[in-house]
Order: sequence, then structure tokens, then C-alpha cells
Amino acid sequence: MRRISIFGATGSIGQNTIDLIAREPDAYDIVALSGGRNVVQLAHDARKLGAQIAVCADETCLAELRELLAGTGIETAAGETALIEAAQRPADWVMSAIVGAAGLAPGLEALKTGATLALANKESMVCAGPLVMQTARAHGAAVLPVDSEHSAVFQALVGEDLAAVERVIITASGGAFRDWPLDRLASATPEQAATHPNWDMGQRITIDSASMFNKALEVIETKEFFDIDPSLIEVVVHPESMIHALVGFNDGALMAHVGPPDMRHAIGYALHHPARRALPVERLDLVKLGALTFRAACETRWPALRLAREVMAEGGLSGAVFNAAKERALDAFIAKRIGFTGMAHVVEQTLNRVSAQNGLIHAGMSLDNVRAVDHLARETADMIMLQN
Ligand code: NAD
Ligand code: MG
Repeated sequence: MRRISIFGATGSIGQNTIDLIAREPDAYDIVALSGGRNVVQLAHDARKLGAQIAVCADETCLAELRELLAGTGIETAAGETALIEAAQRPADWVMSAIVGAAGLAPGLEALKTGATLALANKESMVCAGPLVMQTARAHGAAVLPVDSEHSAVFQALVGEDLAAVERVIITASGGAFRDWPLDRLASATPEQAATHPNWDMGQRITIDSASMFNKALEVIETKEFFDIDPSLIEVVVHPESMIHALVGFNDGALMAHVGPPDMRHAIGYALHHPARRALPVERLDLVKLGALTFRAACETRWPALRLAREVMAEGGLSGAVFNAAKERALDAFIAKRIGFTGMAHVVEQTLNRVSAQNGLIHAGMSLDNVRAVDHLARETADMIMLQN
């Protein structure tokens, strides 16, 4: 039986992962499940799957979690340290599906046990890509992409020589506002931004899709995952979300990954890798689909894409600054303290201020340095928002 842990089990990716796992109850032995505050869901899934331990990130929810799991023999715990300890438990396959930089430390711990890490938490790659890859190498662990675009690139690269890659194109739906006139964007609300035309995802990533911060993170994730020169990475808006990514080779061939917008494909691919197994996703009817369309990804509409290029050019720990500032700006937008277009301004100003502090960004890639820079970037972003 394969031992499985799922971090962020109560979220959108976590629930899709459980959907696949629960179809084969005899194939998997569930070690740890984690959630944030939704302990009712967490306890339900821990019982259903017979987990060893259920961990909630929020310590104020522990009493309720304990009560919900009383008499089941399932261990309970809460808080950041408990998450780390759960990630240290031996497992064969670990899903990293916490949202935000909080997903980094548990993922690194899982890699240290030699487990295969299925990485949905793109923030890990943005904040600390080289550290993630180096930790995996040092412990003989594998990292498999779960983000749909990166799973698509990964699949297009099977059996190929990276030296023959001329370009990597990742697609973006364009999110909720792709057809809005530019002058309306400043007044867009969180409710409007949280409606995605094609994908059903968590609230934060859905808003990040409307602002293209999600794609900006994914461009950096592509660079880190595949060690690809940033100049070879392109973004194209593809409103139908059927092609997830394309890899262009030096003979002119473009290998595209086509499939319905259902994360269970990428999760299932990572779960069964290197095998391909039948998955319960819709089969596309190309004739019914009729046409697939593409548009340029305009950096005036989506300044996040320009900022991602700047972050990659700067290197070092600037990805951690970018992500942390984005997380705070997103919090403020959700709380209606800043407007939709204000998010990119806050992130840009934070990047400028933090990189002006000599040496910090290039202090070296360690978890401590990532944390320090993350903390400083959050404080700086908050200060900028107070001043504006
Ligand atoms: P979500 O908001 O639906 O779920 C997030 C999970 O993390 C929940 O279990 C939540 O309780 C937990 N969590 C939140 N804050 C936490 C914290 N501080 N500490 C510990 N746990 C915490 O998010 P999601 O849409 O499932 O996305 C999860 C990750 O996967 C993100 O990094 C996202 O970018 C990535 N991703 C998601 C999708 C998708 O379709 N939803 C697609 C590609 C990549
Ligand atoms: Mg994606």
C-alpha cells in the first residue's frame, strides 16, 4: 500500500486529490491530512480515509477537531510545528496543496524523508525554487508538478532533450476581466474577480487569475521547475482553457497538451507517474469544441506579467518578495482596503523598496533567508498600503 499525505486537504486541490484516492481505498494508506480552519471537512475526510493524523493549521480549532475525531484513534494536532512534524512522517507520496508561502516548509520536510512531492503549491517554487530542487536532489526525492501548465510541460518533455527546447508557452484563460475595458478594472470588486470563466478553484488563485498574478507566479515556476531561460517562456491568452501549455522544439514542432479544465488530470498524472492510468475526467469532443482561440497577453492590462520578468532578471530572493507582497496585496483587496489595480502597484513598490536594501535579496537561498525576506516584504507592503 502506498503511504499518502495531503497538506491542504480541505482546499480545492486537496478535495480533488481525495476524490481520486477515495476511489481506490485499498491502494492507499493515509498518513497525514491537513487543513486550515475547516475542521468539519478535515475530520470527515480523516475518518473516511482512516488517516493516522489530522492537523489543522489554526490552533484555535484544535479543540473542535479533537471532539470531532474522539474515539476514532486518529491523532490530532494543530499549528505550524505540528504541520512540520506531520510532514516528517514517512510517506511515499505527499500532496503539497496549502495555498501561499505557508506551503514551503512542510514540502521541504516531506522531501527530506525522500518522499515524492506532488507540488500544487507554486509559491514554493516562486519563493525558493533552487532550495526545493536542491533538497529533493540531496534526499533522492522527486518533485512532480501539479499546476496544470507545468504538468503539461512536464508531459510534453518526456523523452525529449532539454537542449532542443526553443520555447515554452503557458496559456492563461485571462480570468474574469479579460474582456473588460481597461478603465473599469480599477473599480472591480473581489466578488467579481473570484468568478472564473473555466476553472473551479480556491478564492485566492481565482482572483490571481483575474489579475494574472497567478500566471506571473507560473512563469517563475516554469523557470525554476525546468531550469529554462526566462527569455524562452511565453504567455498566451487562451480563453477556452483546453490547451494548458505547449513546448516548441528546434525542428519547429510545437507539442501541445490538450484536456478539459479539470485538476484531477494533473493530480492523477502525478499520483500514478511514471505510469498513465485511467482517470475520471471528461473526454474532449473536438468537433463540438469547434475552435480554439489565442490572444496576446497584454502587459498594460496585466502588469503582473512584466513584474515577473523583472523578478526573474533580479533573481536571488526576489521571488519571495514578489510572492509575499502579492499575498498581502491580495488580502487587502479581498478586505476591500485597496482596489484591483492597486495590487500591482503595491507589489511593484515593495519590490523596489526591498531590493534597494543592499544585499538582502542576494543573501543566499536558505529557508531562514526566505522567511526573513518574506517577513520584511509583508511589512513593507503593509506600510506602503498605509501610506497610500
Ligand atoms: P484553497 O484555498 O482551496 O485551499 C488551500 C488549503 O490550504 C486549504 O486546505 C486551507 O485550509 C489550507 N491553508 C490555507 N492557509 C494555510 C496556512 N497558513 N497554513 C496551513 N494551511 C493553510 O486553495 P487551492 O485552490 O486548493 O490551491 C492550493 C495550491 O494549489 C495553491 O498554491 C494554488 O496556487 C495551487 N493550485 C491550485 C489550482 C486549483 O485548481 N485550485 C490549480 C493549480 C495550482
Ligand atoms: Mg495553473
